Amino acid sequence: MNKINGFINNIIQQDIKKKIITKLRTRFPPEPNGYLHIGHIKSMHLNFILAEYYKGCCKLRFDDTNPKKEKNKFVTSIKKDILWMGFNLNKNITFTSEYFEIIYQYAIELIKKKLAYVDQLNKIQIKQYRGTLKQPGKNSPYRNQTIEESLNLFKKMKKGFFSEGQACLRAKINMKASSILMRDPVLYRIIHKEHHKTKNSWLIYPTYDFAHCISDSIEGITHSLCTLEFKENKKLYEWILDNISVVHYPKQYEYARLKLEYTVLSKRKLTILVKNKIVSGWNDPRMPTISGLKKKGYTPESLKKFCNKIGVSKQDSLIELHSLESCIRNELNKQSMRTMAIIDPILVIIENMNEKKYENISVLNHPKMPNMGIRNIVFSKEIYIDKSDFKEYADEKYKGLTLKNTVRLRYAYTIKVKDIKYDKKGNIKKILCTYDNTTLHTYKNQKKKIGIIHWISKNDAIPAYFYFYSPLFTIKNPEIEKNFLNFINLHSKIKKKGFVNKETLINFNNYPFQFERIGYFFIDKKYTNKIVFHQTVSLKNKR
Ligand code: ATP
Ligand code: MG
Ligand code: MG
Repeated sequence: MNKINGFINNIIQQDIKKKIITKLRTRFPPEPNGYLHIGHIKSMHLNFILAEYYKGCCKLRFDDTNPKKEKNKFVTSIKKDILWMGFNLNKNITFTSEYFEIIYQYAIELIKKKLAYVDQLNKIQIKQYRGTLKQPGKNSPYRNQTIEESLNLFKKMKKGFFSEGQACLRAKINMKASSILMRDPVLYRIIHKEHHKTKNSWLIYPTYDFAHCISDSIEGITHSLCTLEFKENKKLYEWILDNISVVHYPKQYEYARLKLEYTVLSKRKLTILVKNKIVSGWNDPRMPTISGLKKKGYTPESLKKFCNKIGVSKQDSLIELHSLESCIRNELNKQSMRTMAIIDPILVIIENMNEKKYENISVLNHPKMPNMGIRNIVFSKEIYIDKSDFKEYADEKYKGLTLKNTVRLRYAYTIKVKDIKYDKKGNIKKILCTYDNTTLHTYKNQKKKIGIIHWISKNDAIPAYFYFYSPLFTIKNPEIEKNFLNFINLHSKIKKKGFVNKETLINFNNYPFQFERIGYFFIDKKYTNKIVFHQTVSLKNKR
């Protein structure tokens, strides 16, 4: 079974050893306001794998406290992506909105303890009163309301007496606290927008800070794992739990967010890419989303391997894209079918071959894995080769076909050029060649080293589209740029039309492909009227 190493694992081990906990309970709490990305994979992997390893349980909790941003379609897509990753969800799905009534009762409790009050300053005033790092905040004039006044106003907020922004519930902590977050944080705000689950039952919604610790407590979460930027929030998390009558005390621990080269990992920024049509959608293969990675041909196993490789620490670092790519490359190297594709075709006629002759040549599906079987490919008079494998004249370093060079067709015969036919514009229409029919099995004892080029019989070739991808951004860390859109790579997607082998496609439809010399590709089953491949990763690291 997979294990997660690192400081969080050590903490859990100690807690179990010291009998501080008997059963580990974690949670993965996405807000349903967008699609999951690879940063979320790090978080879900951590939470689900720990729970699995220690035979505990991990809840998928939809953190749905802001109806302005959340939608049911995101709930559906998040569930789908987690199931695709292979994590078990049975009976472990919850929604923060299920606890709205309980959370509300806790708010009442705080008011009754004089630890919360209804503030009627507006948003700008609240900000001004809050002060800065250098300057302490000052008390709101509403801070000394009586309990009755606050209770009354809070109920009015709930009933819709106020419009948005006219009032909010704040914790009464300390306006001079060194942490700005502790200067009377907002616990409830008014939002007049239908909620995807509770519809119009509520007009007030708890903030993340208020709802999160309470939900963790209700669910009996033992280790509430979040990213480093919530370090400050921990004080508030503990303050709230200390001041309401909860039975269970969860504990928060922070770890470093995943940052990955050449991309942005925030739903807000990814939304901008989608809205500005810089990508074709959330599942564009260039997106770091789960749906994008899936479409490109990444597998759950390769993504889990990536998580294990990068580990979980308190140290912020930018992970090399190469590190992710090598996980899928290694996997595909073992699993994918080798076959030839011709991306930029040019017709070759083998003049000394009989028109009716079709020769079956048997080839290995994987050169190093004979257990993956063999298949036949058809050799015939008319074949396609790649334009880059032919030059009329070239220096000696060039190993492709030239007017002078003889080359070997991979798995087949040697050929040489006899003539070239041009169209009216002077472009090459076809190359006329001859083959040496004694050379089929002479590959190994051939004395002179000659170039080997790829080919597909014309009769066997079916048209296909190939999409080649490179990173969406031209710089390693676009996340820190204010105008990150200035660094978009305008050549991140290149479409090419070429040919693949008909029988390979029929037999190996469900395998990932390695088009030899070109890269690893994944077929897009969405299309029924054409064949489309997305490049998963190149054969070698190019950066
Ligand atoms: P985003 O900025 O993309 O909207 P978020 O943190 O607001 O991210 P949530 O839906 O609230 O998104 O996240 C669910 C969980 O995933 C949280 O526990 C969050 O900390 C974690 N998470 C989000 N992004 C990353 C990341 N890049 N690395 C690790 N964990 C992440
Ligand atoms: Mg969040
Ligand atoms: Mg966010």
